[in-house]
Amino acid sequence: MLKLIEGIHKFRQEELGRYQALFHRLSLEGQKPHTLFITCSDSRVLAELITQSQPGDLFVVKNAGNLVPPSHLMGNTNATAAAIEFAVQILEVSDIVVCGHSQCGAIAALLHGLPAAEEMPHLKTWLDVASPVRQIIERNYQHLQNDEERLTAASEENVLYALENLHTYPEVAKRLESGTLRLHGWFFKIGTAELFAYDMATQQFQLISPPTI
Ligand SMILES: [Zn+2]
Repeated sequence: MLKLIEGIHKFRQEELGRYQALFHRLSLEGQKPHTLFITCSDSRVLAELITQSQPGDLFVVKNAGNLVPPSHLMGNTNATAAAIEFAVQILEVSDIVVCGHSQCGAIAALLHGLPAAEEMPHLKTWLDVASPVRQIIERNYQHLQNDEERLTAASEENVLYALENLHTYPEVAKRLESGTLRLHGWFFKIGTAELFAYDMATQQFQLISPPTI
């Protein structure tokens, strides 16, 4: 906790000056983030850092394994679904990013099971949301013997499954249909801090290169 308190003081003394006008403006005008960014709770995945975003830019949802449950699956007590509705219908974001990552503990647990699962009932139920991903891995990735390769494949398939599930939200589907919303599947490689985006044409995750000007 001391580290957090020290961080607050450091922020106010050394950084706040650069942000003061921005925070003041955002407090007057409200937020108008351009992107809903759904990623894992993993402490190594910092959406704002890796995209160099500013306050007001991203509406971020972090959950264990960056899962997007199908719209109907978990009833009305579903924090991720609630955030999707808020971002798409109230904030009217133009883009949704689902960003998985390497070495994801949640996806590893999805593949190999949880230790003492009966003592973590919420986590077990939550990971069951992505059980179709486990089936895809068992069916289509038998050739991958290496554990890390299987984990990467599962994390990437999990991102694609999340994108697929986003289509089950009526307002997402409607805005995709009208061309006012775009979906993106990303993968963050922790060891090199590289970001990859799913390319529909090649059906591969490809390194995001700098924009050409
Ligand atoms: Zn993770």
